[in-house]
Amino acid sequence: MTVFNSQHYDGHELVSFKHDARSGLRAIVAVHNSNLGPALGGCRMYPYANDDDALDDVLRLSKGMTYKSALAGLPLGGGKAVIIGDPAKLKSRELLLAMGSFIDDLGGRYITAEDSGTSVSDLKIIAERTSYVSGVMDSGRFGGDPSPYTAQGVYFGIKAALKFKHGSDDLTSVRVAVQGAGAVGRHLIALLTAAGATVFAADINTTNKDLARQAGATIIACDEVLGFAADVLAPCAMGAAINAETVEEIQAGIVAGAANNQLAGATQGERLMERGILYAPDFVINAGGIIDVYYQRAEDSSASTSAHVETIAVTLSEIFKRAVTSGVSTATMAECLAEEKFLLGRRVRAA
Ligand code: NAD
Repeated sequence: MTVFNSQHYDGHELVSFKHDARSGLRAIVAVHNSNLGPALGGCRMYPYANDDDALDDVLRLSKGMTYKSALAGLPLGGGKAVIIGDPAKLKSRELLLAMGSFIDDLGGRYITAEDSGTSVSDLKIIAERTSYVSGVMDSGRFGGDPSPYTAQGVYFGIKAALKFKHGSDDLTSVRVAVQGAGAVGRHLIALLTAAGATVFAADINTTNKDLARQAGATIIACDEVLGFAADVLAPCAMGAAINAETVEEIQAGIVAGAANNQLAGATQGERLMERGILYAPDFVINAGGIIDVYYQRAEDSSASTSAHVETIAVTLSEIFKRAVTSGVSTATMAECLAEEKFLLGRRVRAA
């Protein structure tokens, strides 16, 4: 496969490859679009089965970041980095330093952050070689970890969805089923229970189940969470939880959670609409993390971060309204609104 005929190639501005023989680094950086600002996105380290999978992933994820940042109202473009290899086996200080040099060579067109397979401590090593790193602040409310702000954004998004669907965002006695009680899911459970919601949570990991229980959730089985009788389903585990089969099982009237790429395909967005289920598009509702990472880089206060994260609710309300008026799915409407923003960015600059 070449870059240009990858199914995920979408006119990306830059795709750069790096091999550093000494450290074993094999990495790809993709910048999808930078009309609104420098491309910011996480650095993922994963044992891809082959190079094609790594290329597909970086192209797809960097495009997603363009849409996410545009709708979050951030002056950022979309980018992503992938390091090919098992982090448990291949990650070393030398490899991370080589990654730092690679990013630095791109001169600021791409700014990196944490992602699966990389941690804040890894980013600090990368930052020894480049200043184009975000999410390494120790002094913020939550250190460098963006997941509490992601949870906060999901919490505000759930309230916006309740308000749109039922006319009230009061969480008292609202039943929420959370799939995945990891970093984001746990914070979300705590916020929801504090607001009076009744929360049910499922996780494949015993420790995380215990932590979810401590945060106030009742534990349910993993195979019943998607079809659980709740008002809100919050997918906070892995992508593609909602596929052709599971979309028919959902009993909740609202789907609003943190997981990236919740829908296996666009048809699931249409099907949720047909079934009268209000879907909060994942890349809109889970933008709290990128908002936090942006403010960490700007070294701004956590008050600015929280105020910005709250605007996720406003954006979602607009998407819900416009989707209903236009008769398209909320996922499609969100994509159109994002394109309006970053493609307009290009026209404004060119003028
Ligand atoms: P995490 O790895 O800390 O948590 C995921 C949890 O899901 C784990 O506890 C895992 O055991 C559980 N899980 C996995 N498969 C499951 C299944 N089939 N059923 C039930 N539980 C299952 O990850 P996280 O940081 O909490 O992120 C959660 C999701 O939100 C991911 O999709 C991530 O990409 C997305 N996201 C996270 C952030 C962030 O700030 N961390 C930002 C945006 C999007």
